Amino acid sequence: TIGLLAIDKHGDISGACTTSGLAYKMHGRVGDSPVIGAGMFVDNEVGGACATGLGEAVLKTLGAFLIVELMRQGLSPQEACEEGVRRITKKQGYQNFQIGYLALNKKGEHGAYSIQPGFNYALHQADTNELIDAPSFMK
Ligand code: ASP
Repeated sequence: TIGLLAIDKHGDISGACTTSGLAYKMHGRVGDSPVIGAGMFVDNEVGGACATGLGEAVLKTLGAFLIVELMRQGLSPQEACEEGVRRITKKQGYQNFQIGYLALNKKGEHGAYSIQPGFNYALHQADTNELIDAPSFMK
């Protein structure tokens, strides 16, 4: 899955996500990515979030919507992504699958968190590009 969040000079936020779905998925399976609120969600009053990884786990927590709502309550994008992952690991475990969340708020602050190490994202600001390794639940 590729998730994208952007903020323009007026502070307007947009997001997109595209996926081929999970490898070896059952015919007809619908993952989290095409479900607004699960794999991707933007509320221009607050911010946006997107997900990659095991879609079933994200769907059960409406992960992207949850993260945006946590930011509405005052959490930073980083804190919101970490809580989003915790909601999954607490009830659904963490051993055999990956979840990666990315979030952006109205101030242009961003954050990301994953279960397994190895989740990273590209940050483009003005004329600079950066590859950022997200912190993870499993070190
Ligand atoms: N989230 C996608 C799905 O479950 C898979 C992925 O991130 O690669 O369909």
